[in-house]
Amino acid sequence: MASDVVAAGKVVGFHYTLRNDSGAVVDSSQGGEALSYLHGAGNIVPGLENALTGKKIGDQLKVKVSPSEGYGERFEEGVQQIPRDQFPPGIDIQVGMQFGAEGPDGSPVPVWVIGIAPDTVTIDFNHPMAGQNLNFEVAIASVRDASPEEMQHGHPHGPGGHHH
Ligand code: ZN
Repeated sequence: MASDVVAAGKVVGFHYTLRNDSGAVVDSSQGGEALSYLHGAGNIVPGLENALTGKKIGDQLKVKVSPSEGYGERFEEGVQQIPRDQFPPGIDIQVGMQFGAEGPDGSPVPVWVIGIAPDTVTIDFNHPMAGQNLNFEVAIASVRDASPEEMQHGHPHGPGGHHH
């Protein structure tokens, strides 16, 4: 397979704009560095990863990803109110903040702050884009072989990737 084709074991850099079904821009890499991920490692949502398979540097594509292939369906029990004093003191809690909570098996799971009252904080285990279609416009900027270390870690290193 040609070296510039997106496949498992490749580190792919791409620019993207993400819109919801109303056409509002939710997220974008424009004006920043390209997002880098290791193909086949589940670094990005499955629907986008699948759509990029076999594409090449310079390719531009539009991808519509359903919730089941994106950030999942919403589950209402994911919204919880917790006492504010359960947060460490000195943290300026704000709506939209993301932090790690302890999941059922002890590993961290992401939660988002969606509301603040004097004594309670409302958190949501749903990703903000859960239950919504993801409308991506993507331009592939780079494709290269992953290093053995990147394969072992399951993510890319360097610009746009993980920094240790
Ligand atoms: Zn690493």
